[in-house]
Amino acid sequence: MIEQTAAELSAALSRGEVSSVELTQAYLDRIGKYNEALNAFITVCEESALAQARQADDRRARGDASPLLGVPLAHKDIFCTEGVLTTCGSKILNNFISPYDATVVERFNGSGAVMLGKTNMDEFAMGSSNETSFFGPVRNPWDRERVPGGSSGGSAAAVAADLCAMATGTDTGGSIRQPAAFCGITGFKPSYGRVSRWGMIAFASSLDQAGPLCKSAEDAALMSNVMAGLDPKDSTSIDLPVPDYTASLGDSLEGLKIGLPRQHFAEGLSAGVEQGIRDALAEFEKLGATIKEIDLPNNHLSVSAYYVVAPAEASANLSRFDGVRYGYRCEDPVDLEDMYKRTRSEGFGEEVKRRILVGTYALSAGYYDAYYRKAQKIRRLIKQDFVEAFSEVDVVIGPTSPHTAFTLGAKSDPVTMYLEDIYTIAVNLAGLPGISIPAGLVGGLPIGMHIVGSDFAEAKVLNVAHQFQQQTDWHRRKPALNGEEA
Ligand code: GLN
Repeated sequence: MIEQTAAELSAALSRGEVSSVELTQAYLDRIGKYNEALNAFITVCEESALAQARQADDRRARGDASPLLGVPLAHKDIFCTEGVLTTCGSKILNNFISPYDATVVERFNGSGAVMLGKTNMDEFAMGSSNETSFFGPVRNPWDRERVPGGSSGGSAAAVAADLCAMATGTDTGGSIRQPAAFCGITGFKPSYGRVSRWGMIAFASSLDQAGPLCKSAEDAALMSNVMAGLDPKDSTSIDLPVPDYTASLGDSLEGLKIGLPRQHFAEGLSAGVEQGIRDALAEFEKLGATIKEIDLPNNHLSVSAYYVVAPAEASANLSRFDGVRYGYRCEDPVDLEDMYKRTRSEGFGEEVKRRILVGTYALSAGYYDAYYRKAQKIRRLIKQDFVEAFSEVDVVIGPTSPHTAFTLGAKSDPVTMYLEDIYTIAVNLAGLPGISIPAGLVGGLPIGMHIVGSDFAEAKVLNVAHQFQQQTDWHRRKPALNGEEA
């Protein structure tokens, strides 16, 4: 049963075929069996999960029919969870027990979902492979010599290996969508502002957005119903009505206009992935959609602009980790400056330090105009490209990543790693909603199809993804774990 989608589990729970306690125990057993090999969880909350499951069963017995009531999930370790270790994948927070819940966590608790634990991630969400985690790399359930993608790689691997029914992630430049693609699951980044960032440890505040990693677009809709909405504690959260995202999943795609960016089907895209995506696109034509090529002329500047803006914001956000109030503190500091210096030198990993240095440099007097201001201007142009594209088409579709999951250690220089997000980063710079859904297998490894919508068109993106999943079963494919049959 644990391989089922959250929607299916919800139905089974409401029919009384299984209890939340049984389901929770089944996932905990599976975590016990596979987590050592996959390293997907940093913390497993066995006792509190079973307690939450008992409460969920009681609520159901009293007639509560909330859709996610009793369904087990995992949170990326970037979300603050009251009374539970919250590390953000870093040594500098390796002893931090959060005194409060992030809004996202609070909302899932309210929905009755059961929290199994906290998932591994790249340190401070900086990375595309999960290799920057202080807690060691996560392994891809499809091939343990390969990375699961990042930074939400623990969440993606946990969902793909059925260690949980669904998980949360965050996406600053691709960190929900790329690991979803590498692990053969569904990963959705809502529009900037849709989901509260309160209690979500900040990386780059103008880009960060939380979203679901799960087994279907329908599950992404159910999770978004819980996650989305105004939060007075986050001044960038948007005051717009939140539709019921499941209500329009069944809408016909007859007449849908799909744009394929020429720049995403160009040099650098592996032949296998390209073929897989083109085959998948044929499904949309069968459903009555039309496809045309479009241009995103500034896409090639997106990675460069991002690697000025994101580190600049990170350098400011990460200044709060100084050993004074919480987290790691160096041994025997001789004075305040020594404490700051050694705490940060010892507490942060190499990639995080690189970002802080780059960001501080880009914001310094004399370089601000040359780098930061210029990057912001490019960001504007990238947004404009999408505005023009959406005057012609309803959604933009392409590959999520140029290739399938790569082997651990294969991308040792930072710039090669940064180029991983060549198709996803522009969507963060423009603040748009985007989903990655499984669209094929190449050499036994999953590939992701990336569907992007206009501002706050979450419902449309989910509808398009769901209709594809009604016609295909790529999202049902499973990795074989330890001799278990797929
Ligand atoms: N890979 C990108 C980076 O390292 C994006 C990460 C993310 O979305 N959190 O910054």
